[in-house]
Amino acid sequence: MQPIVIVGTGLAGYTVAREFRKLDSDTPLVLISADAGGFYSKPMLSNAFAQGKTAATLVTASAEQMAEQLRAEILPHTQITAIDRATKRVYVDHGERRYAKLVLALGADPLRLPLQGDAVADVLSVNDVQDYARFRHAIEDKRRIAILGGGLIGCEFANDLVTAGYQVSVIDIATHPLGRLVPEAVGTCVRDALSALGVDWHFGVSASTVDKTSDGLRIGFNDGSSLTTDVVLSAVGLRPRAQLAAAAGLNVNRGIVADRYLTTSDPAIYALGDCVEVAGLVLPFVMPLMQGARALAKTLAGAPTPVSYPAMPVVVKTPACPLVIAPPTLGAAGAWDIQVDTDGVRALLREPNGVLLGFALAGAACAEKQALTKQLLPALA
Ligand SMILES: Cc1cc2nc3c(=O)[nH]c(=O)nc-3n(C[C@H](O)[C@H](O)[C@H](O)COP(=O)(O)OP(=O)(O)OC[C@H]3O[C@@H](n4cnc5c(N)ncnc54)[C@H](O)[C@@H]3O)c2cc1C
Repeated sequence: MQPIVIVGTGLAGYTVAREFRKLDSDTPLVLISADAGGFYSKPMLSNAFAQGKTAATLVTASAEQMAEQLRAEILPHTQITAIDRATKRVYVDHGERRYAKLVLALGADPLRLPLQGDAVADVLSVNDVQDYARFRHAIEDKRRIAILGGGLIGCEFANDLVTAGYQVSVIDIATHPLGRLVPEAVGTCVRDALSALGVDWHFGVSASTVDKTSDGLRIGFNDGSSLTTDVVLSAVGLRPRAQLAAAAGLNVNRGIVADRYLTTSDPAIYALGDCVEVAGLVLPFVMPLMQGARALAKTLAGAPTPVSYPAMPVVVKTPACPLVIAPPTLGAAGAWDIQVDTDGVRALLREPNGVLLGFALAGAACAEKQALTKQLLPALA
C-alpha cells in the first residue's frame, strides 16, 4: 500500500497526522520536512524571551519521538524539490517517494523589503525555531534591536524584547501599530503601552537601506533620515509557499488553491495551513489550521468532510496592552464604532444595518471577547 505523504512538520502537518491517527492506525504515513522535524508551537517564537525559552526548550518532542507517537516515518532535513503528479511521486534531495495521497503543509515565507546596502544579508527574520536560534545568537551580546514592521508579529517581538532589557525601535510605514488590522485608537493604546516600556517608534517611513558602520548597522529611511542599531529584525508579513505547487501545475492564487475539502486542483493532493487558500481566504493562524486538520483527517480516512471556519479572534501577545482582534474578512465594508475608556478601547466594526463584522479590543475591553465573538458571522459557514 502506498503511504499518505505529508510535506511539512509544522503545526499543520503534525496536527493533521495526529488527527488522522485517531481515525486510522494502519495506513502508512510519511512526513517529510526540510527542517529538523521537532515539534514546537510557532506562536511561542514571539514571546519566548519573556518565558525564558531557548530554541532547544521550545522543541517539546524530537522527530524520532513524533515518529513513534504517530506511528509514522519521518524524514527530517529533506527538501521536496518537485512533484510528479502523473506517477504520484515526490522528488527529494537524493531520491523520490511515492504517495497514494499527498498533503502539502508547507507554511509561508517571510516577505522581504527591497532593501539596498552592504548589510542586507544581516537582516534577520524569525519564522521557525531555527531562525529563532540564529536570532538569539545574533542578539546575545547586543543592546539595540530595530524591528521592520509594526504589525502583529513586530509588536509581539517588541514587547518581548523590550521586557528582556533590549533597546527596541519599530519602523512602520503606517501612522500607528497594527495599521492594517485596527483603528487608530486601538493602535494608539498599543503604541503608548510599549512606549512606556521604552519602545521607540518610527511611523510613516519605510526602510530602504541597511549598511554596516563602525557603530553597528545603519538603516536609511525613504525620507532621508536614519537610525543606527545592532540587529535588524524584519517582520513585514508572510507569503504562502506555493512555488512547488505552481511548478507541478496546481492552481495557485495567493496561496495553493483548495476547495472546502482542502483538495487542490489534483484530487490526490491536499493543502493545509499557512500555504492554503480556501474560498479566497488565506488565514495564517493556528485556529484555521486546526479546523482544517480535523476536517482533512476525516477526508483522508475515507469520510469526505468540508472545512468550516467559525469566527476566530486572534489574541495578540502584547502583555503591556492586552489585545484581541477579529479582523473583518477582506472587502467587508463597515464603520468603526469606537469607545475609549481610561482602561481600554472597544472598537466594533459594523455594517450600516448593525451586523458586527469584526472587532479590536484593548485593555479591559478584552473581557468582552467571548460575548462579541458569538455575535460574529462564521468566517466560512
Ligand atoms: C512569530 C510568530 C508568532 C505567531 N503567533 C501566532 C499567534 O499568536 N496565534 C496564531 O493563531 N498564529 C500565530 N502565528 C501563526 C502560526 O504560527 C502559523 O499560522 C502556523 O504555525 C503555521 O503552521 P504551518 O504548519 O502551516 O507552517 P510551518 O510551521 O511554517 O511549517 C511548514 C513546514 O513545511 C516544511 N517545508 C516547507 N517547504 C518544504 C519543502 N519544499 N520540502 C520539505 N518540507 C518543506 C518546513 O520545513 C516546515 O516543517 C505566528 C507566527 C509567527 C511566525
